[in-house]
Amino acid sequence: MSKYQILPALPDHDHRIVTLNQKNIGWISTDKTIGLETCGSCHRENYSLSVLRGQCAWCGWDIDEEEILKLES
Ligand SMILES: [Zn+2]
Repeated sequence: MSKYQILPALPDHDHRIVTLNQKNIGWISTDKTIGLETCGSCHRENYSLSVLRGQCAWCGWDIDEEEILKLES
């Protein structure tokens, strides 16, 4: 089983929360854009410019977009 999970969408939200080991780390939108808000490694909050890149600005950790998109299929 993946360490990542996608939570069900809240009403009127087009983003769903993405978790890693049960911790909220970011989101996935209806067009499959993935954002990394809180680093899965150093747990610091990411800079907005790095959110869409999926990479932590502090430590360089990458969110595994491929793994997350697999959960969608
Ligand atoms: Zn980090």
